[in-house]
Amino acid sequence: MTLEGLTTLAEQRQWPRYRARQLSDWLYHHHVEQIDEISNLARSDRELLSQSHAVRVRPPLEVHISSDGTRKYTFETDSQDVIETALIPEGERLTLCLSSQVGCRVGCVFCATGAMRLRGNLSAGEILNQYRSIPERDRITNIVFMGMGEPLDNLTAVIDAVYALTEQWGYGMSRRRITLSTVGKPEPLRRFLDRCDVRLAVSLHTPFQEERRRLLPGTRGYDLNELIAMLRERAKDDSRRVSFEYVMLDGVNDSMEHADATAALLAGMDTRINLIPFHPWDGNNLVPTPPAHITRFRDRLEHRGLTATVRATRGLDIDAACGLLATQRPGRATEPVSAENSPAS
Ligand code: SAH
Ligand code: SF4
Repeated sequence: MTLEGLTTLAEQRQWPRYRARQLSDWLYHHHVEQIDEISNLARSDRELLSQSHAVRVRPPLEVHISSDGTRKYTFETDSQDVIETALIPEGERLTLCLSSQVGCRVGCVFCATGAMRLRGNLSAGEILNQYRSIPERDRITNIVFMGMGEPLDNLTAVIDAVYALTEQWGYGMSRRRITLSTVGKPEPLRRFLDRCDVRLAVSLHTPFQEERRRLLPGTRGYDLNELIAMLRERAKDDSRRVSFEYVMLDGVNDSMEHADATAALLAGMDTRINLIPFHPWDGNNLVPTPPAHITRFRDRLEHRGLTATVRATRGLDIDAACGLLATQRPGRATEPVSAENSPAS
């Protein structure tokens, strides 16, 4: 719940207003696990509150640990589905990659989450629980909404989760350390940018509209030029950083024409493009661009004035790398979370 929601709750119960702030302190600063731990609330109030509300903390079901140190946690959702969350150490940084949906309806041809289709939206609580409930929580330096799902297709819950992560009444994380990745549907994106001041990563993947509609079928109704125009317009009075992502697919979107048209599309923007090596999975016949060619593609972009980097692949051996997060219903082989593999122990 946001502070606003807690304020409404306090009003409904005819509690003093300051009670909302007390509740957010208990939830987000003291990390209580049940209403009964809220010791400055009268026992009768706690009992009444427990009839309508709960502190829904769910520990992870399992953890998988990659040889490169990346961890993949799984969590059960209210609808008894399973979602995945990746935790990626990189030098001083510890980045948490959150899921926002079970599956995804955008259906990008290269993405295993997309192949699941959409099974459901996560609530703000289920999004936050992926942060709240892992042993490394207090060491996390960065959060990215780059796990399962298209965050702007679950706008209300994602906005509430961003508030709880960044506001002082919530977890109080720096907005500059949070990045939301999206295919960028202009209308929900506009609403998101009006309300949340975090960094943005836009999944581009090709500068050509028709091809983009084939690779990212859920963007069919949207105009790429309108999206870029909107981002340019925003950049004038908005200092937040926008970057782009581009999955490198051999023989599909990695020609020099693609590089030139991408540089032209983004010309003059204060931005950066992240080239992501494609992570293959069973179920399509797409092939990764060879590393030497990714370097050539990057050099060509740089030559045309765009800042381009190649993203390091992490967590491949445990299917935690970009685009590989996808789950069956519970019941497949698991490794339980135990004190032994918990870094907090
Ligand atoms: N739905 C959002 C965020 C989740 S996907 C989005 O698409 O931006 C996060 C990133 O993983 C996206 O840039 C996506 O294009 C990339 N990705 C998806 N499948 C991939 C794969 N098989 N290999 C590498 N990157 C992939
Ligand atoms: Fe959805 Fe992102 Fe995967 Fe596309 S890449 S199917 S938008 S999760």
